[in-house]
Amino acid sequence: MSKLGKCPVCSEDVEIDTDAEIGEIASCPECEAELEIISLKPVKFEALEDLLDTDEEEELEDDDDSGSGNNGW
Ligand SMILES: [Zn+2]
Repeated sequence: MSKLGKCPVCSEDVEIDTDAEIGEIASCPECEAELEIISLKPVKFEALEDLLDTDEEEELEDDDDSGSGNNGW
């Protein structure tokens, strides 16, 4: 037997085990979102967001090497 909850992302029915517990992770078959079970009666999910918020800014340094022009003639 299984229970049904609703995906908070796409509102699709998501099946979980009857003995699933709060805090367990299910994944939506429709949008493949990772869903943490936050309630069992009724079954509710919370979408797990990517905690990897990598806002890396790469700074490119321009090393302009003006050649040494020694022309003493
Ligand atoms: Zn979904």
